[in-house]
Amino acid sequence: MTPVIQLIKKQIIPEQLNNSPVQFQVYTEHQLDKIEALKQLSEQQRFEMKVVAKVLPFRVNQYVIDELIDWNNIPADPIFQLTFPQKGMLSKADFDQMAEALRSDADRHLIQQTVNDIRHRLNPHPAGQQLLNVPQVEGKPLQGIQHKYRETILFFPSQGQVCHSFCTFCFRWAQFIGDKEMRFSAREAEQLHKYLQANKGISDLLITGGDPMVMKTSHLAAYLTPLLQPEFQHVQTIRIGTKSLSFWPHRYVSDADSNELLILLKKLVRAGKHVAIMAHYNHWKELATPTARVAIRRLRETGVVIRTQSPLLNHINNDPDVWAKMWHEQVRLGMTPYYMFVERDTGACRYFEVPLARAWKVYREAIQQVSGLGRTARGPSMSAGPGKVEIQGIAEIKGEKVFVLRFIQARNPDWVQQPFFAKFDPEATWLDQLKPAFGEDKFFFQDEYETMCMRQTGSKVY
Ligand SMILES: *Cc1c(COP(=O)(O)O)cnc(C)c1O
Repeated sequence: MTPVIQLIKKQIIPEQLNNSPVQFQVYTEHQLDKIEALKQLSEQQRFEMKVVAKVLPFRVNQYVIDELIDWNNIPADPIFQLTFPQKGMLSKADFDQMAEALRSDADRHLIQQTVNDIRHRLNPHPAGQQLLNVPQVEGKPLQGIQHKYRETILFFPSQGQVCHSFCTFCFRWAQFIGDKEMRFSAREAEQLHKYLQANKGISDLLITGGDPMVMKTSHLAAYLTPLLQPEFQHVQTIRIGTKSLSFWPHRYVSDADSNELLILLKKLVRAGKHVAIMAHYNHWKELATPTARVAIRRLRETGVVIRTQSPLLNHINNDPDVWAKMWHEQVRLGMTPYYMFVERDTGACRYFEVPLARAWKVYREAIQQVSGLGRTARGPSMSAGPGKVEIQGIAEIKGEKVFVLRFIQARNPDWVQQPFFAKFDPEATWLDQLKPAFGEDKFFFQDEYETMCMRQTGSKVY
């Protein structure tokens, strides 16, 4: 039997789980020593984790530890890599500096200074997120909203700026390190509603974080229910970005307000909204537990659509067979594959990034293995300053090897779907490392993009 068939055999969704509440238990940096499963590791390995967890956010819950990680396959297990800090996530120099500060029992100020210095070297705000995209109402910048693409806004509700566990590769890691000036937050639903009311061209609201599904249902309702009023008719789609289906599926099964959450979603759907759960899945293992499957089924019964996305990550899913199996399973469970992302140039990217050429090969070999219903996943896509740039392929044109690229989404809608070309570079991992092909000195969008950046920020941002 092939592994996929084996999985299907085991994959009958239980009709009903025992619905008694499961306690949410979570561990952060200061509780690493309390995690029973880590006691099998050496003193040295645990120290390495503590060094990295000083710099990059760490948070893991008992469900992930007990049901998603295979502790007989440490450290290679993909979910272990996804949630637990690894030495290679920092450069050798940064790691040594941090380790030295901890070992020498330096005073708190020196340790904190070391932490801050290293964090600032890790490009905490990629693609000019904090400078570009911040909308204004009555001349004042709105905290907690980003408006980059004409039809879609991102909203970061302040109570949703944490997750049920943290991903080691997170591109928004700088939001979670307690440094106020690095954090997006939105105090008020009112500001969101005002902005939406004033901008009738916005059809899509994307609520994100952190993870909005850590919020109580009553908080979510305060943001969402008003959108059923006629003045918000133009907001057709409500997307909720979440990793809860992977990290805490009990959110839809047995939490105290699980049923209220499902009722809220159903109400939005019945009222004519397209509600899309943008589910982050990095590996098919996250789909394989009984609770995860019941959660998916209960969500789908409300009428929401579940779309799935993930970056391509070395040490986690750098393998076409892993993607093929994941997409295959997602389609079978009624979900729609949406994006394969390229890991962004921030945080622990050194550890996770793969060359663009490799990313395209993984995408292609994975797509070839699934039916048309799984080929709705677009990518590999870089969410860069100018927009989402997809690597469509590698070709040879008039004797020159090139990347064929296109915008899936762009600051200027006119850039979308126009093929453009970059010199092939086997090492390149991000857009800013690519050079235009055929001896051109600029990409077609470059002048206009630089003008936009100058206008908004007074400097160039890639
Ligand atoms: C991806 C993204 C969106 C949504 O784009 P779609 O192509 O509609 O999925 C919106 N805003 C930002 C900043 C994004 O990165």
